[in-house]
Amino acid sequence: MNYKIINAKLLVPGDNGLSEIVSKDLYIKDGQILAVGSSDRDLNDDFQIIDAKNMLVMPGLINMHTHVYMTLFRGYADDIDFDNWLFGRIMPAEEKLSPEAAYASSMLGCMEMLKSGTTCFMDMHLFRGQSCRAAKDMGMRAYIGRGLVGEDLYKDGYFRFEDSLCEMEQYQSDLIKIVLSPHAIYTCSVKLYEQVVKECQKHGLLMQTHLSESVNEIENCYKKYGISPVELLERTGFLNEKSTLAHCVQLSEKDIEIIKNTGANVVTNPASNSKLGNGFAPINSMREAGVNICLGTDSTASNNTLNMFREMGILSTIHKGVARSSVAAPAQFVLKCATSAAGRALGLENKLGVIAPGAKADIIFVNLRSESLFPNNDIIASLCYSANGSEVESVMIDGKFVMKDRTFPGIDTEKIYADVQKAVDMYL
Ligand SMILES: [Zn+2]
Repeated sequence: MNYKIINAKLLVPGDNGLSEIVSKDLYIKDGQILAVGSSDRDLNDDFQIIDAKNMLVMPGLINMHTHVYMTLFRGYADDIDFDNWLFGRIMPAEEKLSPEAAYASSMLGCMEMLKSGTTCFMDMHLFRGQSCRAAKDMGMRAYIGRGLVGEDLYKDGYFRFEDSLCEMEQYQSDLIKIVLSPHAIYTCSVKLYEQVVKECQKHGLLMQTHLSESVNEIENCYKKYGISPVELLERTGFLNEKSTLAHCVQLSEKDIEIIKNTGANVVTNPASNSKLGNGFAPINSMREAGVNICLGTDSTASNNTLNMFREMGILSTIHKGVARSSVAAPAQFVLKCATSAAGRALGLENKLGVIAPGAKADIIFVNLRSESLFPNNDIIASLCYSANGSEVESVMIDGKFVMKDRTFPGIDTEKIYADVQKAVDMYL
């Protein structure tokens, strides 16, 4: 189906890398944005008209770091110390989960993301095929990696790596891409990172990892290797424009310089880092250095939501507070982190996370008559500071409506709730 969207306000790229709001028609054809404004091509009968009066049409948000299978852990392990959270509660519980429970949990996570305007996510998981299956069933765009750990990718790490190979075979598509995801420097050897780099080159894959999240990680890395985690990964070749580094909370000036020079992408997770007591990433310094910064929620076990509008507000307010400056982390920057910066990190600069001719038609319809957005004095500021996600009325991914008027066509949402509850009763 091709669409001509009329009477909407559009969020589009403006001058100097900033976004701007314009009142123009939007043409969508074959899953792509064909034109913004008037078009001289054949636009007569084969376009369905959508009247989007009082709506903002903007790029779907891109959640660059999460673990959707963990959604059933929401509210399960809060206000306890980090080690107890991870080793006492989360890890023992996830070891018990069945693949079906992981699938139901992932479906719930996808529903939450779509309802709050996220169209694409990057995931790290433990259950072969289940995140892929959920993303596919919900019609989402996703970059999915099995968490890899161990000394050697082809020996103790192989059964996990095999999950990624199988997922490539079974699920790789226009919407779903497999990435290789070594878990972290404290669960993977240097050798394994080097092997991952080679495999990614061989298969043309992106890479993601957790990096420099806690003070403990930094201290242990210095004890073991005598250098920082960022310096360590630079030596393995893992840092380049195809890698995304989740967290990056504890960074030195030298680390920031290395990240900038290698072109690696950072994913900041401000709610999770604050809630787990890990601190604040040096966002203002990274921004000044020109690092490509994306935004992620991490999982509901540490956030406790997958709502990117909430994350945008937290990102801005935290870093204004940290910098003691009301002009730090402005709304324009935050919006970019949640949209076009992610497109760039995914190798789709100007093709994903923007409304522009030739870009993928991943868009959301935001009701400007919502109490939280009205009056519309400064729509971009309101998206960052007052939107809560409930303003998202409809979601289109790859030119198809996957959420219409806040319902999911063809999806039995009651069954998802029932299956998640069943898993909670059985495993938690
Ligand atoms: Zn994570």
